[in-house]
Amino acid sequence: MSGIGKGISVASLARILKSKGFTATCVKIDPYLNVDAGTMNPIEHGEVFVTEDGMETDQDLGNYERFLDENILASNYMTSGSVYLSVIEKERSLKYDGACVQIVPHIPEEVIRRLNLVARKTRADFVLVEIGGTAGEYENILFLEAARMMHLKSPESVMFLLISYLPIPSKIGEMKTKPTQHAVRALNSAGIQPDFIIARSDVPLDEPRKRKLSIFCNVRPEDIISAPDIDIIYQVPLNFEKERLGAKILKKFGLKDKGRDLKDWGRMVRRATGSKKEVQIGIVGKYFGTGNFTLSDSYLSVIEAAKHAAWSFSRKPKILWLDAEVYEKDPKRLKTELSQVDGIIVPGGFGSRGVEGKIKAIEFARRNKKPFLGLCYGMQLAVIEFARHVAGMKGAHTTEVNSRTKYPVIDLMSEQKEKIFKGKMGGTMRLGAYACRLKDKTIARRAYQERTVHERHRHRYEFNNALKEVLESKGLVASGINPESGLVEIVELKDHPFFVGTQFHPEFKSRPLNPHPLFREFIRAAISKKK
Ligand code: GLN
Repeated sequence: MSGIGKGISVASLARILKSKGFTATCVKIDPYLNVDAGTMNPIEHGEVFVTEDGMETDQDLGNYERFLDENILASNYMTSGSVYLSVIEKERSLKYDGACVQIVPHIPEEVIRRLNLVARKTRADFVLVEIGGTAGEYENILFLEAARMMHLKSPESVMFLLISYLPIPSKIGEMKTKPTQHAVRALNSAGIQPDFIIARSDVPLDEPRKRKLSIFCNVRPEDIISAPDIDIIYQVPLNFEKERLGAKILKKFGLKDKGRDLKDWGRMVRRATGSKKEVQIGIVGKYFGTGNFTLSDSYLSVIEAAKHAAWSFSRKPKILWLDAEVYEKDPKRLKTELSQVDGIIVPGGFGSRGVEGKIKAIEFARRNKKPFLGLCYGMQLAVIEFARHVAGMKGAHTTEVNSRTKYPVIDLMSEQKEKIFKGKMGGTMRLGAYACRLKDKTIARRAYQERTVHERHRHRYEFNNALKEVLESKGLVASGINPESGLVEIVELKDHPFFVGTQFHPEFKSRPLNPHPLFREFIRAAISKKK
């Protein structure tokens, strides 16, 4: 079932193989008919992650990148929709030579073609493929079929791991293996026998249950890996290694352990788990009727980036979800809540809901010199706040919310207007990495310690360069510019400990072993503000 940590398990395994001197890459297969994840609501499906080459994907690709500390490209993501689309497009261009195009074998064959392409392109020793969904359900059966066909063709180079949940019903208090037994039966009926079972549960698996699973699932007891709940996801590779999962996998493939280790990783985890002193970060967004769990999924990369940065200062990040809509009517609550946090983040977003509340929060951060980091929409709203309250542009706005504003400080580029006019919405935002040249003697330049950086985008609207000169004359600093288009990528303020807005999403490039420079400087400012 979803949410048991398939993505983290796959990412952890990749990290382990990397630590043993092999190269590994991960692929996510989503059973949805959506062609990419860009059209899915993040509150329901989790964050939309963007790759360096501009694909809008499932958040698991973010996990892969964070664990591997490497970029994962668009080719490593597929949905049922994208697979069907390419088969149909091929059929329309006569690529099947008059054959009758069928779901089987043409769909699994397309899946296999794509997986082989990933192997060729990345030249990785291991391609770890995560098949989303539940064993036995209707939606992913064609992907299992592809997996079976790959195994049939080359049994010595394909291995299967089942990640299964073992519930402990509260009234019974005993761990139940039955769902896992049935999952294995379901896989067997698809022609697949798992080589390993990763047993996810609240607590470690005990010996009697290992034996039981072994007999009923036809897997050796030592190949059943206990995966209990942990506090910090980055502990998972270390836990798997306690059961020597890496060595066992290599042995089955007839490969030699090249004997490197997880030392850096272990140090990072110890620092993270050992951090006790807190730094409090308020994330101001539009949160209606969503629980904390949903929120941490929809802003996954932002939270992880804040954690990476906080841990690098041996601080424990405490995230507070602050509701922008409340601030529209309740200035007292805004003051109490925002005074209490050490730093304020306004993350990305779309539409008009909660916008005025977010602008109020940004105004508070500016006036009270609270460290502020605006991400994409957060940057755009910071520009609006500055235009309205510092540059005297009354009613300044983004044309996303008010298309008739006198001061459209944030506006659509003409090519975007065309796309919207034609109803071309999927995959047509400004997506993926673009260069950003940094201005000397700015917060951004000091943070990055580089002149030109590449950061990932996902938006339609832009800083309106027609109003740039006026805004700059009033003190807004455009500290990052795209050299090709001249578009403003970073804005910041002088005379403020840390006030930075980025048109891109720096959170996508933060890694636990390499925290993002802007998040690091933001957290540094938040900590010194606390002192
Ligand atoms: N809604 C804004 C735009 O489309 C910002 C998008 C975002 O925050 N990702 O430009």
